[in-house]
Amino acid sequence: MSIYFDNAATTPLFPEVIELLDKLNRESFANPSSIHSLGRKAKKQLEKSRADIAEILQAKTNEIFFCSSATEANNMIFNLLDYDLVITSPAEHASVIESAKATTKPIHWLELNQEGFIDLENLERILQEKSQDNKKILLSIMHGNNEIGTLQNIKAIAELSQKFSNVFFHSDCVQTFTKHEIILQDPCPDFISASAHKIHGPKGVGFLYIKNSIQEKYSHKFKTLIVGGGQESDMRSGTENINAIIAFALAAQINNQKERRERVNSLHEYFFKKLNTNDFICHGPKNLEQRVNGNLNFSLNNCKLRSEELVLQMDLKGFALSSGSACTSNKAEAAFAIESSYVLRACGIDESISSRAIRVSLSSFNNFADIDSFFLAIKELEAKFPLKQMIKSP
Ligand code: PLP
Repeated sequence: MSIYFDNAATTPLFPEVIELLDKLNRESFANPSSIHSLGRKAKKQLEKSRADIAEILQAKTNEIFFCSSATEANNMIFNLLDYDLVITSPAEHASVIESAKATTKPIHWLELNQEGFIDLENLERILQEKSQDNKKILLSIMHGNNEIGTLQNIKAIAELSQKFSNVFFHSDCVQTFTKHEIILQDPCPDFISASAHKIHGPKGVGFLYIKNSIQEKYSHKFKTLIVGGGQESDMRSGTENINAIIAFALAAQINNQKERRERVNSLHEYFFKKLNTNDFICHGPKNLEQRVNGNLNFSLNNCKLRSEELVLQMDLKGFALSSGSACTSNKAEAAFAIESSYVLRACGIDESISSRAIRVSLSSFNNFADIDSFFLAIKELEAKFPLKQMIKSP
């Protein structure tokens, strides 16, 4: 049985979620839009799940809209409103980057420092400059980076964006929802997106949060991506994936438990300390508190294997980890391993280092012994595939 260290890509279901889904799939099948009692019961469960998720975020129930994934939620946001310009970062998830490109609106790409942070003063200057002719701006900055774990200060970004009446702020919170506290009380983003399968819930369900004040002002202008029967208050048509939504709400409640976060945090700290030697080069923030809980990204100083080779060699030794984002590994260029992580490149990390980077992402299912055996396996690979020191020119 392999040791699973790829929880940023997806997570195993909580046993409680498996049990619930099993029961629901056997017993509950009604359409929540049906008016008979089975349908009304399904509707009640749907609304309870919405309320449970809203409660975790301290949001209002009518601010949560369910959809098929965070990819869909991100696409919805980019299609929802009229705006003239996108401001985003080159380290966003592909579903944001590709949505931004698909709008054909001008995109301003924010610079990142080596740890993956945007510069808030620079952002303020850019917002001021771009707002001069009152252009409408969609600002999209993720909360936690899926590859290198950088946690942006979304409260500060929200505060800044609220100084400008022409700016909408969206934050992709896929890697942080329930792993970090997110309170959707002002100042907070106008939109957030999240996904169930990153928090031990089922695949194929996500949500989009839309702040009430934005709904009140603009809902008559909203353009929805999927039209039809008008489910989800006309925001997203299609019969809701009701059993998966109920399971999502349960997974969110379990993953939001303080003890669970603390467990991941202590595993994270233990792993991070072991990387603090000359054998490794860590990527992303140096300060653990500024990292997504459980995310580690590093290159091996004494091993010549490139990222994908390392992942495959570790797989042979029984460890599932990754070389970066699972979503970009479908792209043609990734299949031939021509390019290293686009996130590390955006942070200015030299190709000779970024091409050997790997990502470990932990969950509360892991334990300290898993981590110890990981480092033993790495030692074996270093011995088998040593990196001959390059002769430096004088
Ligand atoms: N955003 C981030 C930061 C992610 O890590 C992912 C998944 O890898 C997504 C969006 C897309 O989520 P989904 O798999 O629900 O489409």
